[in-house]
Amino acid sequence: MTNAVEFLSVSRLFGTVRAVDGVDLSIKAGSFFAMLGPSGSGKTTCLRLISGFERPTGGTIRIFGQDVGRVPPNLRNVNTVFQDYALFPHMNVRDNVAYGLMVKGVDRRTRHAKAEEMLALVKLDSYGDRKPAQLSGGQRQRVALARALVNEPQVLLLDEPLGALDLKLREAMQDELKALQQRLGITFVFVTHDQSEALSMADTVAVFNNGKIAQIGSPADVYARPRTRFVADFVGSSNVLDPAMTRALGGPEVTASLRPEALRLVPAAGATLCGTVTGLRYLGPSVRVTVQMPFGVLGVMVPAGSPCPEPGSSVCIDLAPDALHVMEDE
Ligand code: ATP
Repeated sequence: MTNAVEFLSVSRLFGTVRAVDGVDLSIKAGSFFAMLGPSGSGKTTCLRLISGFERPTGGTIRIFGQDVGRVPPNLRNVNTVFQDYALFPHMNVRDNVAYGLMVKGVDRRTRHAKAEEMLALVKLDSYGDRKPAQLSGGQRQRVALARALVNEPQVLLLDEPLGALDLKLREAMQDELKALQQRLGITFVFVTHDQSEALSMADTVAVFNNGKIAQIGSPADVYARPRTRFVADFVGSSNVLDPAMTRALGGPEVTASLRPEALRLVPAAGATLCGTVTGLRYLGPSVRVTVQMPFGVLGVMVPAGSPCPEPGSSVCIDLAPDALHVMEDE
């Protein structure tokens, strides 16, 4: 399969800061690729390297096979949707969307027709005459999307585009973005620090830490088989077990991760792993129960609606034989 974007040992240094530090990655054409990581881990810099707004200090970047080392941003078939949307406040929605075509010298009629087509795509058909200030956050987000898509980019870069939206709208837009990406078949590269957003939308997730990729894989892979302690901590809320804890839970003496939903509370009769409940956290569909075991603390996920123990009570736990996932040392 063709790669839309390739990084070969790409670095970007700012003085002594290694914002991007020897990154290798391939983004398949037509995929939805998420760059996930904490603030300052290098995600935005990677995106800017793809768009050409930033130049690498080392390494090679290819877009659809072409080395773009000397290609300026406007000659890359790539568009960016920014978190703050960067719409022109004095232009109406239609002109905002048509802007890229105007710059290219496309005549007014054609560009307006194309803009209307894009507005229909993002379900804003009747909003062309409004100014950005007369729209809701979610609608502005869609205008920004339409404005990027009108240029028919091969790669669409999205830098935390849902960051300004409330949770409900965010979730709705996540579904819309995913559906749109599948319909258009354009490669989406999405930057976020929200793990649920990355897991729910992307085909492939790259987890960034300190300018490097800590792990790259499918959402299910990254979630269930974190390679390092960092990934286990950042993606989901795994129990990270030191070698002695893994041993106490019946595994080999190595660092391992254990998803809280892989643990079950069981009756005391016949159980060997028992401890005391020290905390409860209601998460809506489930309750995260913190249990102090003789060998350390474990988080256990109990589905809401099933019996939940009180803080201070004794509980026993059980785990599936394959629940322990061995991790590499960092
Ligand atoms: P966030 O989620 O907060 O946007 P990020 O993962 O996108 O973070 P980057 O914006 O790529 O992180 O920044 C990576 C590192 O590079 C940070 O330490 C940042 O301070 C540094 N950095 C980024 N741009 C510059 C710049 N123009 N000059 C100096 N340092 C920079």
